[in-house]
Amino acid sequence: MKVAKFGGSSVASAEQIEKVATVIRNDPDRKFIVVSAPGKRDKDDFKITDMLIEIASRHEKNQPFDELVPIIMQRFSEMVNKLKLSTTIVEEMEQTIRETLKSNVPSTLKMDTIKSLGEVFSAKVLSNYLASLDLEATFLDPKEAGIMVSDEPGNAQVLPESFSKLYTLRENDGVFVIPGFFGYTENEKLVTFSRGGSDITGSIVAAGVKASLYENFTDVDSVYAVNPAIVHQPKQISTITYKEMRELSYAGFSVFHDEALIPAFKEKIPVCIKNTNNPDAPGTMVVAEKKPNEQCVVGIAGDAGFCSLYVSKYLMNRELGFGRKLLQLFEDEHISFEHAPSGIDDMSVVIRQSELTQEKEKVILRRLQDELHVDTIKIHRNLAMVMVVGEGMISTIGVAQKATKAITDANVNMVMINQGSSEVSMMFGIQEEDLTRAVQSLYSAFFQEEKTTVLI
Ligand code: ASP
Repeated sequence: MKVAKFGGSSVASAEQIEKVATVIRNDPDRKFIVVSAPGKRDKDDFKITDMLIEIASRHEKNQPFDELVPIIMQRFSEMVNKLKLSTTIVEEMEQTIRETLKSNVPSTLKMDTIKSLGEVFSAKVLSNYLASLDLEATFLDPKEAGIMVSDEPGNAQVLPESFSKLYTLRENDGVFVIPGFFGYTENEKLVTFSRGGSDITGSIVAAGVKASLYENFTDVDSVYAVNPAIVHQPKQISTITYKEMRELSYAGFSVFHDEALIPAFKEKIPVCIKNTNNPDAPGTMVVAEKKPNEQCVVGIAGDAGFCSLYVSKYLMNRELGFGRKLLQLFEDEHISFEHAPSGIDDMSVVIRQSELTQEKEKVILRRLQDELHVDTIKIHRNLAMVMVVGEGMISTIGVAQKATKAITDANVNMVMINQGSSEVSMMFGIQEEDLTRAVQSLYSAFFQEEKTTVLI
């Protein structure tokens, strides 16, 4: 029994939905289908979810939004007409948008409900289309499926009780089509995951029904060792471990949501990233363990938009609880930290720059002086983090040397170096404007010649 999730580009148009139906029909094991909202048909197009968010936020600010609703309706009308389905789905969608906006519920709840409609109607279109092809297909709302989530609008997390409820769905004979991206709280409130969260739904369903495989259909043949927008025709990755995939997704690989692996990983369900437009390509398998002697570094990723707050204080190493107190300041401001490299008398906290508003920065700086009595404070903005990722580096000599040489060869100044404690990745903090150069140089060092020594 397989779970197949189709991303935004796979359900962007009637033609794409036809391809999705062929993929589903070609393998009777594909019993649970999870879909995203229609994405872009080409680079100048819009994503349905972006448009829905725009409608909900204009409504919240009392700004006119009426002209946006028909644009969404047009996309769905085009689809249902070409697929020769009844237009009632489109009418139902328009009515749901208007009723939700008018309803008397808090604005966060309204926003999440509106945001989820792209997925809901995408799943309705697909299930109706499959049924029109004589396939036993049923639309299944996450509430009926039992997907329970925490009450964190726009950033929900799955609750453990979801899995046993999902398991009971195994008994069903036909195909279930489930909209991705959201679940329900204990109080039956609809709450979405973070953006791109349909991948998370797919992984939850796969874990719940104990699928033999979670297939994640997107629009590329495989995961690449580096962003193909930065390096021309990079190496395809045929097998990658969960940990490596998690690190790469976190650090900027957009193929798969970085939080989506955990449910599948816990149940040891293999994940395969595949291409709807070329379903015969083998794709990338995400597995628990790698075979020994595979390449020690699997990929290079980079992401911009970070800043670091550096503090130093003489005898910091002897001050009990300093690290905790420093991180507490960030917790109090609801800022999560990404990395925290430290020395004997100093420590840096790396965070996403967008989280540090001017007000929060003022509070943190004041408390650092008044409560923690630090000697020096420096904020380093516009940083990028480059990650060299591979489980094999734990037993390979020369990875750090090769990486630092590559960055040096690209004439890039390293602001920070951090080797994750698990030794799955090595992180380099650099200036944002150097990101492309550093990634390109690292790619050629690790993938265009492989000279490191593997320990026996
Ligand atoms: N439609 C949602 C988004 O654009 C979720 C998804 O596509 O996975 O973020």
